[in-house]
Amino acid sequence: MNARTDPTNTYTLPNHISMLTGLPVTAPPCAPPEQAHGYTSNDAPGSNESIHNRGNPARSYTPSVFDVVHDHGLSTAMFASKSKFSILTQSYNEAGAKDAVGEDNGRRKIDSVYIDEDLKALTNALSDSLVKAPANFTFVHFAHPDRVGHDEGWGSSAYLDAIVEVDAALGRILTLIDDEPRLGAHAAVILTADHGGSGRRHADAANPDHFVIPFHVLGRDLPGGRDLYSIIGERRTAPKLAENPGFDRPDPPIRNGDAGNLALALLGLPPIPGSWMGAGGF
Ligand SMILES: [Zn+2]
Repeated sequence: MNARTDPTNTYTLPNHISMLTGLPVTAPPCAPPEQAHGYTSNDAPGSNESIHNRGNPARSYTPSVFDVVHDHGLSTAMFASKSKFSILTQSYNEAGAKDAVGEDNGRRKIDSVYIDEDLKALTNALSDSLVKAPANFTFVHFAHPDRVGHDEGWGSSAYLDAIVEVDAALGRILTLIDDEPRLGAHAAVILTADHGGSGRRHADAANPDHFVIPFHVLGRDLPGGRDLYSIIGERRTAPKLAENPGFDRPDPPIRNGDAGNLALALLGLPPIPGSWMGAGGF
């Protein structure tokens, strides 16, 4: 419960793109300029916009976890509850790079895409996919608590109701994975957040209410019931609650930006080329 967002940014799209690329939002002073994805917009993307043409000008293409899974011949899926997540299809399907690994699996890195604002419809679609044709890597985004937080306030009774509802949706998915013989023995779930919040906003990267987030890893063969810092503690140090350390630390906190490379490590695949967070292993 003591993980961190990006140190300079607590917005939705920039943090999700960090999760999927293993790169900071902006390049820290200690690193070369290409060590960031550079996508700082949180608005609906223009129709020709991609992470590559609107992100870091020091990069021509920013590969993602979708690229690595897809290029190794495995399948990928995305379930998101905000239409602006089209930035991911625009970056990794319409503008995906040539497959440089093994046989050519094409440029479309995200095999199956489902975007729906309705929590129940999204959860139903995700359940269906997990039962009928589970992808090797599935990215899921639940916006429900964020939406209610902006309308009614983080910590409000409506917000707490939204947490209960999203918890029930997660419960459905975790139970399904556990009960499904093809999934339960093999699947792992990484659960994290793009940001926290207070009042009706989450824009302040210096506010612990906005930058302290959870990061849970669940799977049948993974060590159970232990704090993640106690498992990977040699490389990572739990930060003080009021701190979101920069990237100059040799023992950085666990960040949402570790999610992509952790997923690849669990799949037995190499890290995202040119990525930073989690690229050295866990
Ligand atoms: Zn928001």
